[in-house]
Order: sequence, then structure tokens, then C-alpha cells
Amino acid sequence: MKTISIIGGGQSGLQLAIGLLQKGYGVKVIQDRTGEELAAGKVMSSQCQFDAALQLERDLGINFWEQDCPPVEGISFSVPHPESKGKALDWAARLDKVAQSVDQRVKMPRWLAEFEKLGGKLVIASADIAMLEAEAKAADLVLVASGKGEIGKLFERDAARSPFDAPQRALALTYVHGMTPREPFSAVNFNLIPGVGEYFVFPALTKSGPCEIMVFEGVPGGPMDCWKDATTPQAHLDTSLNILKTFAPWEYDRCRNVELTDANGILAGRFPPTVRKPVGTLPSGAKVLGLGDAVCLNDPITGQGANNAAKAAAIYLQAILDHGDRPFDAIWMQGTFERFWDYAQWVVQWTNGMLMPPPPFVLNIMGTAQALPGLASRIANGFDDPRDFFPWFVNEAAADDYLTSLQAA
Ligand SMILES: Cc1cc2nc3c(=O)[nH]c(=O)nc-3n(C[C@H](O)[C@H](O)[C@H](O)COP(=O)(O)OP(=O)(O)OC[C@H]3O[C@@H](n4cnc5c(N)ncnc54)[C@H](O)[C@@H]3O)c2cc1C
Repeated sequence: MKTISIIGGGQSGLQLAIGLLQKGYGVKVIQDRTGEELAAGKVMSSQCQFDAALQLERDLGINFWEQDCPPVEGISFSVPHPESKGKALDWAARLDKVAQSVDQRVKMPRWLAEFEKLGGKLVIASADIAMLEAEAKAADLVLVASGKGEIGKLFERDAARSPFDAPQRALALTYVHGMTPREPFSAVNFNLIPGVGEYFVFPALTKSGPCEIMVFEGVPGGPMDCWKDATTPQAHLDTSLNILKTFAPWEYDRCRNVELTDANGILAGRFPPTVRKPVGTLPSGAKVLGLGDAVCLNDPITGQGANNAAKAAAIYLQAILDHGDRPFDAIWMQGTFERFWDYAQWVVQWTNGMLMPPPPFVLNIMGTAQALPGLASRIANGFDDPRDFFPWFVNEAAADDYLTSLQAA
């Protein structure tokens, strides 16, 4: 029996671990926090996943929240008017298939339990290099799926694939109950506030039931980069509401009765989006392979990280199965990541583009979508597979051709 050790029990690590157990592999997960600790801790993400990623969980039978989690039925897009308190742009489109967001404080403890139920070996420890060396000796393959954890720095930053070396947004999350539901269908309400940042909000499932997750993406140094004095949960909620009152009053109107889901339903932080070289070399010379955010970390602006992590886990699972009894050498590791990168490069390029001030042709696309429901629908559904944005969302001439063809039709 092949044995595989995975560092990190998050979206990618546990999904892959459970998939491998179901195929008869011997799997160890080294995870730095127990399920109870994760459940009792701070929120980690807004983790909205679109249908293709959700399907991968359905395929493994680990989509335990399908019935309980409120659906995200569409995407809406607004830009405030520079002078009035209203909107300059405003459209919404339904997703062909719903998205869902399950608080990782709910999901990961359940997946850890499932992993152990299926016979996986769970070790609660913060893995260091010495531990990786021991795993590399004992197991046929070591994967590092440690998210934003420090151990991921063993993978060299890939400068050619990482255009930014500093955080591009000041991030914050606020989980609330009591928000007025969006009508006539639920959606990720995406608000682009030029020069200030982005605010998006959508329904989710948390420990205390259905909730809404507010996500703030502040341009560094701007007025939405304002979390350092919000040192208590109440101050964090007040700061969230003040931002909406000032920059998106229509969103503030939905928040008259909100309260935090819990004192840990808040988060603030920042990080540079970074792609790393996927094969790490330990001091002994042994090789380990990175997975998920550890080697492909995106800004959350397009809500792709957990989607990517799920897709990466599925690609790695297939690559491991395809490899049979052969040894998992550096060439196989690099090739496996490149199979993922064939897809992920488009997600990274689109997401990094969204962090830049939108060029006029992108504003034109977003404005035209207000008049053309087919275009709005294509943009909304592109979140499920961002390859569909190429080349027309990133190339001015392609955008012109595409819009001209739509208008002619
Ligand atoms: C503010 C914010 C909003 C987001 N919103 C979305 C969204 O709407 N949609 C979306 O798709 N994605 C979103 N994401 C991204 C998404 O949460 C991540 O991309 C995803 O969780 C990555 O999965 P992963 O398996 O790579 O890492 P993680 O899920 O982070 O799991 C890594 C695990 O490894 C553990 N670990 C770390 N170091 C060690 C160690 N040395 N030893 C043992 N264990 C270790 C960690 O504690 C953690 O449990 C968001 C992220 C943020 C920060």
C-alpha cells in the first residue's frame, strides 16, 4: 500500500486525503489545530465555492451541508455614482448552478472526523522541517498543504508568476445575522468603489446557522484600510457599518438589524498574492510537493482560493492514481503542478488583473453588461471557470470584437 503524508488539514489537504483513503492509500495528515480548536477559533475565509468545486466534494460524498447551506443564486455588480448617493452601474445575473459557502470552522472539523472515520492517521502538531524529513523517509510522497502557514516558505517564490511583492488589499471579514435578504434572488453582491476598494456580501452557513459574510477589500492606505483601531468585535462591526454608510449606502440599508454571528466572526489582515515553485527540497535533498494556497495564493477579490484548492486537490488525486506504483520523483511533482497550472494560470491572471484599477475597456464591459443580460450572465458564470474570461476580459481588441459581435446580435 502506498503511503502519503499531507501537512495541513484544510480545503486542499483534507479533500485530497479523503479521496486517497477512498482509493485504498495509507494517509497521514499533520494538522496544527484540532477540530475543536478550529471550531472555537476565528473565521478564516469567506470560502464561497462555485458549482465545479462543489461537484468535486459531491463526487467524494463530503458535501455534508448541501441541504442546510443557503444557496448563492447569482452575482450582482454595482459602482457608486461619484456625485449622488446612488449607483452609476448596477446589474445582476443568475448563476446557472448555485454557489455555497460553508464556514471552514464548520467544514474542517467535520472533514477531520470523516478522515479519521475512514482510517486516516491524524497527527496534531505544527510540522517543521525536521518533521518533514521524517515524513519524507517514511512515506512514498509528502505534500505540503499548509495554506498561508510559515512552513510554505520552504517553496521558493516564483517571481515570473508573481507580479506583486506586497499586499494589494487590506482584507476584512464580518460574519453577521439579521441582514435583510437580497431580492429577488440571493447573490454575491459585488460593489466596486473606485480608488477605495471592493465590498462584497453573500449568504453562507456558519456555526449558528445561515448568515451573511461581509468581505472588505481596501486599497492599502485608502479609507477602507481602517482596521487597526478596530480592536474589539463591536468596533470591527461598527467599522464595517461605517464603511457601508459612507461608500455603499444601499448595502448599509440592508444592515439595520445586523449583529455579529459570534465574537470570532471577524478577521482582518493582508498578504501578497504569491505563486511558488511547487517542488521543495529539504536539507537532506528529499523532495516535497506543495498544494493549494501554499504554492498558489490569490487575493480573495475574485473568491477563487477555495475553488482553486478544491480543483488542485482533484487534479493531484488523479495524478497520484495515474502514477500507479512508480516513485513520486521531482519530475512527476513538477508535472502534477503544471497540470493544475494549466487551469490556475487563468485564475491567477484574472484575479491579479482585478486588483489593478480597471482600464476603460473593462469598465466598458461591465457597463455594457447592464444593457445586455447575456453578457451579465457570462460574467457571473465565469466565476465558476475563469478561463471563460479569456481573452475578451483582458485584451482591449478582443473586448471590442466581442462587444461588437454581441451588439450586432
Ligand atoms: C479574507 C478571505 C476571504 C476568502 N474568501 C474566499 C472565497 O469567497 N472563495 C474562495 O474560493 N476562497 C476564498 N478565500 C481563500 C480560501 O479560504 C483559501 O484559498 C483556501 O482555504 C486554501 O485552502 P488550502 O487547503 O490551501 O489551505 P487552508 O484551507 O488555509 O488550510 C491549511 C491548513 O494547514 C494548517 N497548517 C499551517 N501550517 C501548518 C503546519 N506547519 N503544520 C500543520 N498544519 C499547518 C492550517 O492551520 C490550516 O488548517 C478567502 C481567503 C481569505 C483570507
